[in-house]
Amino acid sequence: MSDGKRHQYKALRGMRDVLAPESARRRLLVDSFASAVALAGYSEVVPPLVEELDVFRRVGEATDVVTKEMYDFEDRDGTRIALRPELTAGVVRAFVQHRPQVPWKVWYAGTNFRHERPQKGRYRMFDQVGVEVLGVDDPDLDVEVIALADGFFKSLGMQQVRLLVNSLGEHSDRAAYTDGLREYFEANCDSLSEASRETLKRNPLRVLDSKRPEDKVLIDTAPKVEDFLSPSAKDHFARVLEGLDSVGVTYEVAPQLVRGLDYYRRTTFEFVSDSLDAAQNAVGGGGRYDGLSEAMGGPPTDGIGFALGVDRILLACDSEGTFAAPQANVTVFVIDLTDGTHARDLTHSLRAAGISAERRFGGGSLKSQMKSADRSGARFALIVGEDEIADDSVTFRPMLGIESDGTQRRINTESITGEIRRLLEVDTEGTSK
Ligand code: AMP
Repeated sequence: MSDGKRHQYKALRGMRDVLAPESARRRLLVDSFASAVALAGYSEVVPPLVEELDVFRRVGEATDVVTKEMYDFEDRDGTRIALRPELTAGVVRAFVQHRPQVPWKVWYAGTNFRHERPQKGRYRMFDQVGVEVLGVDDPDLDVEVIALADGFFKSLGMQQVRLLVNSLGEHSDRAAYTDGLREYFEANCDSLSEASRETLKRNPLRVLDSKRPEDKVLIDTAPKVEDFLSPSAKDHFARVLEGLDSVGVTYEVAPQLVRGLDYYRRTTFEFVSDSLDAAQNAVGGGGRYDGLSEAMGGPPTDGIGFALGVDRILLACDSEGTFAAPQANVTVFVIDLTDGTHARDLTHSLRAAGISAERRFGGGSLKSQMKSADRSGARFALIVGEDEIADDSVTFRPMLGIESDGTQRRINTESITGEIRRLLEVDTEGTSK
């Protein structure tokens, strides 16, 4: 730059750096999700971050996510590709490509990109965790899937999450309902907002999603999907609700909860958090779909899944005051009052023995190194000076808990890891904290 100053770069709009301790909290969230779904027999799938553009177009030609918000471009070979805006499309594409045995029960965690207008809880790059199951039509699977998400929110300590459920019926019920809605909204078009009039042209179901106050009255009195459900769809939904009752998942039936994609059918659900602003209060959603596998060139296969928004879940946890960042303290801090050789070698051997250890680079006085040890939150300090070297020992100093009464003692260099392990074991047995 002409004034000799370098341009200082910032992360792109709508994209964020996640630093500690928030990064540790995100990792813990994903790990907790992984454990929860493993209990129900789900295995992890890791689809690519980019796919051919058409893979995403197949899922949502009528959605903003696909028509307006996708990061799509030509790569160097001229192939039209896109950064994924969601994971279902890639997972179903993978199913069709590999033809695993059904039922195929998978979970995922990953980043998506949507060119949205950024605001709190709405980013251009955000993470989701989710599951998909292919090859099962049974309503009890709907219960399993919904209960998994519900249990996960509860395990994070979230109490202000509500589950909304609905049924969109079979494909033909849905088509009849869409026609019914179109007729109704067209007849009352003058009272609709301009944006909703536009939506109506593309997909009448989506008009029900409008949160604009001027649309509210018309939406409230719109035809209800339940009046269009066939007996088989009604039975399926009844069994889902009965199952949710039976496993203790609380829900609200929300007749206006629709998913705009053509592939959705029967059960659809959303989790909203009352601790977030209404415009961005969805912390997750999902439902049954069919036809997606066929659209990707595969056999007709039933599917169901959900995606939960990691960023929003963490915001909701913040406002509920739950799921704090995990402590990242090391066990041992090595203080070297000589030339640093001992800090280098001792931290190495402690880590090799599975004991977390930290040190300060650049040495310094005992006082300043003790300060660093304090700041690190380490449980024990090991101090090495000339005296210790002389008798091949280290000074062991407890820093936290009941041991931190200032008593320190010498231990032999070769007993260090054994001694620390012993103390940690005492800890896990709960006889000392
Ligand atoms: P969807 O794939 O649109 O059904 O989104 C599933 C979940 O992902 C939502 O309930 C949100 O929690 C989250 N989500 C969707 N879009 C965004 C975004 N732009 N920023 C942050 N989270 C999002």
